[in-house]
Parts: sequence; C-alpha cells; structure tokens
Amino acid sequence: MSLPADCSIRQALQAIDKGALGMALLVDPDSNIFQGLITDGDIRRALIQGFGLESHVKEITRPIAKTASEGMSFEQITTMFTDPVRVVPVLDKAGVVIDLAIFDRRINLPVAEPCFNENELLYVSDCVITGWVSSAGKYVTRFESMFAEYCSTKYAITTSNGTTALHLALLALGIGPGDEVIVPSLTFISTANAVTYTGAKPIFVDSEEQSWTIDPTGIESAITSKTRAIIPVHIYGHPADMGKIMDIAHRKHLYVIEDAAEAHGAYYHDQMVGGIGDIGIFSFYGNKIITTGEGGMITTNDPSIAEKVRILRDHGMTAERRYWHPVLGYNYRLTNIQAALGVAQMEKIASILKNKKQIAKKYTEMLQEISGLTIQNTATWADPVYWLFSIQIDPTLFGYSRDELIQYLKEKGIETRPLFPPVHTQPIYNTGQHLTIAEKLSTQGLSLPSSPNLKEDDIIRITQEIRKLNKT
Ligand SMILES: *Cc1c(COP(=O)(O)O)cnc(C)c1O
Repeated sequence: MSLPADCSIRQALQAIDKGALGMALLVDPDSNIFQGLITDGDIRRALIQGFGLESHVKEITRPIAKTASEGMSFEQITTMFTDPVRVVPVLDKAGVVIDLAIFDRRINLPVAEPCFNENELLYVSDCVITGWVSSAGKYVTRFESMFAEYCSTKYAITTSNGTTALHLALLALGIGPGDEVIVPSLTFISTANAVTYTGAKPIFVDSEEQSWTIDPTGIESAITSKTRAIIPVHIYGHPADMGKIMDIAHRKHLYVIEDAAEAHGAYYHDQMVGGIGDIGIFSFYGNKIITTGEGGMITTNDPSIAEKVRILRDHGMTAERRYWHPVLGYNYRLTNIQAALGVAQMEKIASILKNKKQIAKKYTEMLQEISGLTIQNTATWADPVYWLFSIQIDPTLFGYSRDELIQYLKEKGIETRPLFPPVHTQPIYNTGQHLTIAEKLSTQGLSLPSSPNLKEDDIIRITQEIRKLNKT
C-alpha cells in the first residue's frame, strides 16, 4: 500500500484497489519518509477536474493528512478520527510509517448503552402523530400491565423516575418525620435520599462480603423502636438475601421496599424481585436494564398501597372529585412518550437478559485465576441479571490498584465505572460509622462494560487487557 510520492494516478488506483482501506500511503522512494496519503475520493475529484490516469498524484490537491507519532496514547490518537478521517498513519521519529490506526465503531466500549430498534421509533412516532405526548395514553397503561405481568404482581404503577418511585413508596407506607428506615450503605444515593425527603432518617448497614448486598445481621442490630422499614437493594443486579430480610421484617413488624432499580428480572430462588416485599421499585434511567430515558415503576400486590401511590403521584387529587386535594401530592408521572419506549423495551427484555447472562458467563470464564481479582459472587439463592458485571481488585495481590486498572483500561478505549462510594461517607450524611465491607468494596470494586450489544470478541479484548496489566 506504500507508493512513491511521484507515482501516477493509475498506479495509485491499482494500489488502492489491492488494499481494503480505500487509500494508499505516499512515501519518499529513497528514505521511505511519509509524504501523505491519497484516497479514492481524492482521485475521483481529480478525474472530475480533468486530470488523466497518467497525471502525477503530486499535481492533485489533497487535504493534509493527519498523522500520529510513535508513543502517543490510544486516547490521543482516537481524537484524530473525524468523519472523513478513518485512517491515521503512525510515524516514528524519522517520519516513517510504523503502523496505521484505523477507526472502528466498536473501539470504545461503554459500560452500558440503550438497545433500541424499530419498535421504539414506531411507538414514539405514534405518540407524536396522535398527539398523545403527555401522561395519559395507551402506552402508559400498556407498559404498566406488561410490567405487572412480568413481575407477577397485581399492580405496577409508572413514575417519573426511580427516585420518585422510592419517595412515593415511602409516603404510601406513611413513613415520615421521627421514623427510621434501614438502607445499605453500598447503593446509589437516591435510596437514602428518598428516605430523607420524607423527613425520616436513613440508617446505614454494611454489605455482605460475597454478594455485596445488605447484610441481614447488620439489619437486626440496626433496628430501634423508631424503625419502620427496610430497603434492601438488589445491587448491580444481584438480589439481596430476601428470605432472611422478610423473616426479620415479619418478626419486627417492618415494611420492606425492594430497590430493584438495577435488577429487572432477577430472581430470589423462584420469586422475581419487586414482588417479594410490600413494594418494589424500578428505574428506567438510560443505563439501566431497560430504559425509557428517565422513568420508574412501583410494584405491589396491595390494592390500598396502589391507590395511595396513584393519588400521591397525581397532585394528591381524589378519584371522586376533580381538582380536589385531600393530601399533599406530587407530579411524579411518566409520559406516554416514555412509556412508548418502555413497551418496546419490555418486548425484548428476555433477549436483553439472555445476552447479559451470556456476557457474564464469558467474563467469568475469562477472568478465572487472576491473582487479586474476584468477581461479585452469585449467592446460592440468586439468579442475578448482571446489570453491570463487577469485580474487585486487591491491589497487593493484583499488583495495581483499582484506579490504576481503570486508567489503564481507559487508555485502551475500555470504559469502566468505580463502585458507588458508601452513602454513610457522603458529605450530606457523613455518619462517622465504619462499615468495613462497603468501604473496601467502594475502593476496590469496578464495573466492566456490560452492554447487551457486547460481542464475545469485545470480552476477550477486555479480559486480555486486564491479564496483560496483571502480568506486568
Ligand atoms: C438508578 C438507581 C436509583 C434511582 O433511579 P433514577 O431513575 O435514576 O431516579 C435508585 N436506586 C438504585 C440502586 C439505582 O441504581
């Protein structure tokens, strides 16, 4: 693919024809120093301008080629790709081509991305065409009934997001000032914030070392006379130890709200999450198992809870009289447009989960026997959904810290995500507790790319990079 810079258009075309990149490199015939590159597009434009096949490529005007130099990082090189620039020659100090950086759509692997195809577009267009764009409409009711059926709960009620679902769940149970609600410290902030919104106090409990979910023994010792509810979180798609938690709740007369924001379709033994506690909540944020952009859902089998949630979600208006408000309500509704996405997503949730399971299986197989690397362990009770496939790095055994691994993978175009900082250490809570497992996990844990679109080759690439760093 390298040609002397003084060749003819005919010679350039022949060289381009032999390669697969639609371009040829032009070099100095004596020193081999890079002189530029010529694409089939450059030649097309030259021919239109009246150049002939025997004209010299030197005569035709071409854009100045972008080049990278030896030792540049992957990140620096990828910033050079633009729409017309798909190939960037890498030059050594003397200016001789030593490599070609080639644009690949899959070169950057995200932690999560939405999976959309025709039906999302079709249903959303339907909302726009028919004018049903606000919070009434057939997609809202269809999404709710599909979700209730999926979770085998009597009711499923859409909300504007997962956080408002949590807030409404707590309000529907009458939780407020003076109450305490037990939450894991290793969770996304909104599990605790929703408790705070009601005026109640979140009480933070440590995680189990294996499954990373809330530790039932920690729950027992956190219970006081003020405790009203427990919010177990099915973290990263792994169900909490619901048998033990429900047992504690029954003995101590506490409510259970499952935070299943990350765990659509996960099972605790033969029970799907969201239908085990008094209330389940889900999120449909852009990076969750399925998405509506922003969105949430409340699941329950209790008709009085379902009714309270519906009223609180809709400005506290009674069903009997319009614009009559016996309670302080909120506007926490989902729109028909968002629900349209939700319906299309529910149609393929089974295939999304199947892909995620396949991905987790491949990761597990490829990440065996790496010193200092452990995978979030699947408990005996759990059939997880692997929202984000997550691992833990012990720096002394692995040889590098979690943050060093994150940086290394980032330079290779592999996005990762550190585990949540424990909520008890967050500036707004800062309880001064020492919850050793949550603290350790949050400094050692990271999530790997887990998009259902991930290919087996991508996983091989990711795990080989992890092994490479481990061995150096
Ligand atoms: C995403 C998430 C939420 C909040 O959901 P939003 O839709 O983003 O408000 C709550 N809890 C957990 C564990 C989450 O991961």
